[in-house]
Amino acid sequence: MREETCIFCKIANGDIPAATIYEDEQFRVILDLGPASKGHALILPKNHFADLLALDEETSAKVLALAAKIGAAMKKSLGCAGFNLVQNNGEAAGQTVFHFHMHVIPRYEGGPKMVSWEPGAPSGEELAELAESIKKELA
Ligand code: 5GP
Ligand code: ZN
Repeated sequence: MREETCIFCKIANGDIPAATIYEDEQFRVILDLGPASKGHALILPKNHFADLLALDEETSAKVLALAAKIGAAMKKSLGCAGFNLVQNNGEAAGQTVFHFHMHVIPRYEGGPKMVSWEPGAPSGEELAELAESIKKELA
């Protein structure tokens, strides 16, 4: 399940070199070339899935546990105080490489603010309406 033109398929399967911090049968975890912070890593499945909605259940069941393992290793090795998991789906969400990947971003005491937003202030009515419309699709 690879896509010929996909750069992350090539990296995940070892056709293009990358600084690899973890590898097993299903995943390769590499350091990001344009890191948000020191040690920023990307979890790549070796099979091609465009995004979270395309991911198969077996792979998605393993991703979070792997992210925890990487985060724990970062805290020990890099001395970061925490880490963010970021996973973009779709161009509007900032996805630039259309092969599923999860960012693991180490966060350091006193480091720059990131992965944040200005909180909105919806009314209770607005929230209730929104909840209803999303719930309908989940039923
Ligand atoms: P996205 O915006 O799609 O969630 O994230 C794509 C990420 O992949 C970016 O943080 C970018 O720096 C990283 N990236 C893009 N091309 C390469 C590459 O060829 N090698 C590595 N190691 N990272 C890449
Ligand atoms: Zn791919």
